[in-house]
Amino acid sequence: MASLKKITNYLDDYLKINEIKDSSVNGLQVSGKENINKIAFAVDACTESFSAAKDAGADMIIVHHGLIWNGITSVTGITYRRLKFLIENEISLYAAHLPLDLHPEVGNNIEFLKLFNAENIEEFGNYHGIFIGFMGEFAERRINDFAGEIQKKLNTNCAVLPFGKEKVKKVGVVSGAAARIVNEAVEKVDVFVTGEASHEVYHTAKEAKVNIIFAGHYATETLGVKALAKLLKEKFDVEAVFIDVPTGL
Ligand SMILES: [Zn+2]
Repeated sequence: MASLKKITNYLDDYLKINEIKDSSVNGLQVSGKENINKIAFAVDACTESFSAAKDAGADMIIVHHGLIWNGITSVTGITYRRLKFLIENEISLYAAHLPLDLHPEVGNNIEFLKLFNAENIEEFGNYHGIFIGFMGEFAERRINDFAGEIQKKLNTNCAVLPFGKEKVKKVGVVSGAAARIVNEAVEKVDVFVTGEASHEVYHTAKEAKVNIIFAGHYATETLGVKALAKLLKEKFDVEAVFIDVPTGL
C-alpha cells in the first residue's frame, strides 16, 4: 500500500508534469481513495478502461490520454458519466500525455527504440518548440522486414509508405498522431515511425523519398504506460495491471 499523495508527488516530479506545455491537463485529474493498493494502466480514459480497472480491483488509473483537455467546460453527457463512475468508485485518475511521449526513460518513443536496441539516441520530433520523440540507429534491415517486426512486437498492423531507401538504419519515432513531423524526418532519418496514418503526407513522403511506417496510434502509446507500470511496482508497494483496450487505429 502507498498513499495517493506519495505516488502523485513522485510521478509529477519524475515526469516533470508541470514543466511541459500541453493541451492535456497532466497530473491528477480525479482524486479518489487516500491509499492505493493496485494501479491500473491504460492508454485511454474511457468507460471501458474504467470498468475493467474497477473489476480488477484498482484504486487508481494512470492513462496517456486523460479526460480533461484544455480544462472542463461542462460536466454533462459522457463527461458526466465517466466522472461519476470514478467518483462513485473512489478511483483516482492520473494523466500523462506529452510528458510520457518525450520522457527519456519510460516515454513511448524511447521505449520503442529500446525494443529494437537502437543506439546513438538523439532528440527528434519538434512540436511547438520541444522535442517529443527520439531517433537512433540499429543494424541495417529492409523496410518491410522492419514493419513486420513492429507488427509482431506491438501486436499491430502497420501501413507502410516505402518511398525511401530499401535498407534502413536510422529511425525516428514519434508516437500517436505525428505525421506532420514528416519534414524533419526527410532531413534526419531513413525511416519515420509514427502512430496514426495520415492521407495528407502521402505525396510529401513520395516526393521527398522518405519511408514512413504508421504503426497505430494506440499501439505506439501502450509502451509508456507499460514502462510506468513496471517502474511504480518497483518503487512502491503496489500491484499493477495493464488494461488493454485497443482501438485498432
Ligand atoms: Zn495520443
